[in-house]
Amino acid sequence: FISKLPQVGTTIFTTMSALAAETGAINLSQGYPDYDCPPELTEMVNNALKSGHNQYAPMAGVMALREQIAIKTERLYGATYNPDNEITITAGGTQALFTAISTVVNPNDEVIIFEPAYDSYAPAIRLMGGVVKSLSLEPPDYSINWEMVKRLISNRTKMIILNTPHNPTATILRKEDIQQLYSIIKNQDIFILSDEVYEHLIYDGETHESIARYPELRDRSFIVASFGKPLHATGWKIGYCIAPEYMTKEFRKIHQYQVFSVNTPMQYGITEFIKNEQYFTDLASFFQQKRDHFRQGLEETRFKMLPCYGSYFQSVYYDAISTEKDTEFVQRLIKEAGVAAIPTSVFYSKGTDFNVIRFCFAKTQETLDKAVERLMRI
Ligand code: PMP
Ligand code: GLN
Repeated sequence: FISKLPQVGTTIFTTMSALAAETGAINLSQGYPDYDCPPELTEMVNNALKSGHNQYAPMAGVMALREQIAIKTERLYGATYNPDNEITITAGGTQALFTAISTVVNPNDEVIIFEPAYDSYAPAIRLMGGVVKSLSLEPPDYSINWEMVKRLISNRTKMIILNTPHNPTATILRKEDIQQLYSIIKNQDIFILSDEVYEHLIYDGETHESIARYPELRDRSFIVASFGKPLHATGWKIGYCIAPEYMTKEFRKIHQYQVFSVNTPMQYGITEFIKNEQYFTDLASFFQQKRDHFRQGLEETRFKMLPCYGSYFQSVYYDAISTEKDTEFVQRLIKEAGVAAIPTSVFYSKGTDFNVIRFCFAKTQETLDKAVERLMRI
C-alpha cells in the first residue's frame, strides 16, 4: 500500500485537543468556543427540523441561504454574486478549500502559499499532483514581500492562496497588499483562492479586504467562508464558496461527487438567523473584548505578545521562559501549567521554529482568567 501523503500525520488540532482532554488542561489549542451558539439560532434549526426540512438539499445549497449570502456580500463588499450560479454551500470552509483546489490544480501545476499556512492547503495541492511553492513569513509582522512572490511565479503557477485574517498569525492583508498582488498577476493566468473564514473577526476598526471588493481580481477568485466561526458553531460544518460563474460551474462538478449537498436543516436555520444583519457587525466587538481581556492578562506573564489584528488567535513568544522547540514547549506547558496551545512551527513545511505558540481566545472570560492564572506560574 503506497501512502498518498507519506509526510502527513494526524493534524495538530486533533493531537493537541486529545492531549488537553486526556490531561484535563484548559484547551486554548484547537480554534473553537467553549460557550454555546446563540439559542435563537438553535431554535431556528429546531424549527427547520420540525417542519420537515430533512431530505437532501439542492446540490448547490438551499436557495434561500445562497440568496442571503448574496445580500450579505453585496452589503459588506459591494460585490454582486448570482446565488443561482456563483454561490455554493459546502461542508465547512475545509471542503470549499479542498474542492476549489481540486477544481484548478492539475499534475505539476504550482500553487503559491504563504507560511505559516493553514494545514489543509498543502495536502490538497499534493493530492492533485500539484507542487507547493511556499514563501516563508517571519514574526513579528509576517509581512509579505511581493517582490519575492513575483520571483516565485513561473509559467506553471496556477494559483495563489491567500488567508485574511490569517490563521495562525492574526495578521491581515491591507489594500496595498492586494494592489501589489494585482500588479504582479494582472497579465498572467493565475487563479486566487482567498480563505476568508475569519472575515468578521477583525479589530480596532480595520477593514476586511475581501477579494470580493476588487472586481479585477474577483473574476479569477474562489472566496471561501464558513459559518463555523461567526455563528460559534464550528461543529455544524457549513461554509460556502463564491466564485464567478465559469469557475463555479467546474467547482460544482467536483462538489457534487464529493458531498453532493450538505446538511439541510442547518442551512434553513442559518438562513433565518442571518437575516439579522446587525449580528455580523457586532461580532468584531464581541471578540475584540475577549482579545483585549486576554492580552491584559498575558501582560502579567513572561510571554511576549505578537500583534493581533484579526481571527481569534493570539500568538506569543516564549523565549523568555524556555529555549525548547515549540513542539516540546507545548507539551511541557500542558503538563506543568495545564494549558494547551498550538506550536506554530507545524505550519511551516520546513518546521521553522520562531519560538512562537498560538492561543485561541474564543473562550469565556472565566476560562481566559483561569488560563492566565496558570500561565503566570510558568
Ligand atoms: N481556513 C482556516 C484558516 C481555518 O482556520 C479553518 C478552521 N477553522 C478553516 C479554513 C476551516 O473551516 P471549517 O471549520 O468551516 O471547515
Ligand atoms: N481552524 C481551527 C484551528 O485553527 C481548527 C480546525 C480543525 O480542527 N481542523 O484551530
